[in-house]
Amino acid sequence: MGRLCVICDKERAIIKRPKTSQQLCRECFYYVFETEIHNAIVDNKLFKKGDRVAIAASGGKDSTVLAHVMKLLNERYQYGLELFLLSIDEGITGYRDDSLETVKRNQQQYDLPLKIVSYSELYGWSMDQIVKEVGLKNNCTFCGVFRRQALDRGAVMLNVDHIVTGHNADDIAETVLMNILRGDIARLQRCTEICTTGDECIRRSKPFKYTYEKEIVMYAYFKKLDYFSTECIYSPNSYRGHARTFLKDLETIRPSAIIDIIHSGEAFEIKKEVKLPIQGVCKRCGYMSSNELCKACVLLEGLNRGLPKLGIGKTHRMRKIHGDMPQDTAIIPHFNNIKIDDNENNNVIIDESNKSKEKL
Ligand code: SF4
Ligand code: ZN
Ligand code: ZN
Repeated sequence: MGRLCVICDKERAIIKRPKTSQQLCRECFYYVFETEIHNAIVDNKLFKKGDRVAIAASGGKDSTVLAHVMKLLNERYQYGLELFLLSIDEGITGYRDDSLETVKRNQQQYDLPLKIVSYSELYGWSMDQIVKEVGLKNNCTFCGVFRRQALDRGAVMLNVDHIVTGHNADDIAETVLMNILRGDIARLQRCTEICTTGDECIRRSKPFKYTYEKEIVMYAYFKKLDYFSTECIYSPNSYRGHARTFLKDLETIRPSAIIDIIHSGEAFEIKKEVKLPIQGVCKRCGYMSSNELCKACVLLEGLNRGLPKLGIGKTHRMRKIHGDMPQDTAIIPHFNNIKIDDNENNNVIIDESNKSKEKL
C-alpha cells in the first residue's frame, strides 16, 4: 500500500499536487481545487445573488473547467447566479470551427444557454481574411483587440452583469513578467486585479487567478471533461512564449514562483506623479478608450483602407503618417445599437440597449 492522502489520511494518495507538492487522493484533490476557487470568489465578493454571468467559453481546457466549476459551485453554495456560455468565433478554419463544436457539446453537458459572436458579423472580417491581409506577424494584435471587444459586445447581447474568463495563475504571472519587460506601467497595475470594471463596461473577473495551469489540466483529465486541446494555427505569439518558457523553468525550480510573481505584481505601487492614460470613450463606436478612437476602430480602419499596418505600434505616430481617419468608414456595432437575431433559438435575451439592464 502506497502513501496515504495527507488530508483525509484514509485513501491512497495518487496525486502530487503541483502547487504545494502535497500527496492527495483524488477526492481530496477535487475538494481543495474547487474550494480554493470558491474562496477566491467569496473573498473578493465577485458576485451577488441574481447576477447574470457569462462564462467566456472557447472549448479549451481552462474555459471548460471554468464552466464545470462555476456550475458546480453555483449549485453547491447557492450563489444564485444565472449562467451563460459566451463564445467568440474568430473565423479560423481548422481551429475555431472545431473548438466551437466542443463548446456546443459543453452546452448540452452543462445545460447552459450559449451565444456565439463572430468577428465576421461584428467587424466584417474573419481572422482567416485578416491573416491573408496582414500575414503571420501582427495577427494576434488584431485578434486580441477584436476578441476583447467582441466579448463585451456579446455580453451586452446576453444582457449579463459580468463576464468570467478562464485566465489562470500562470497566465497572470506571465502577463506580470511581460508588462515588467515592456515597462507598461498602466497594464502592470491592472493585470493582477481579479475583477476589473469601467464606467460603461461590464465587470470581468478571473476566478482562476490563483489556480495553477497544471492543476486545471489534472482536474480536466481526472474528471474526464470534454475539451479541445489543439493550438491555434496562427499562433506565433513569441513574446508571450518567451515569458511562458521562463515561467515554466522557474516553476520547475520552485513551484511557488507563480504565486510569488502574482503577489509581486500586486505589490507594485505607482508614484502619484506618474501620469496614467485617462479612460474615455471612442468617438466612433463608444467603446472605452484612452485615445480618440479605440484600438479596434483604428485596426479596422487600416484593414478597410488596405493599410493594415495602421494602428500597429503607437497610434499617434501612425496617424501622423497616414493622416486623420475619414469619418465615413464602417462602424462596429455599438453597445447602444446592437441588433440581435433570435433565430439561433439559444435562449438569448434581446435587448437593444445596455442602458436598460432590467432583470428578466
Ligand atoms: Fe487569435 Fe493569435 Fe490566439 Fe490565434 S493565437 S486565436 S490568431 S490571438
Ligand atoms: Zn484524501
Ligand atoms: Zn471604437
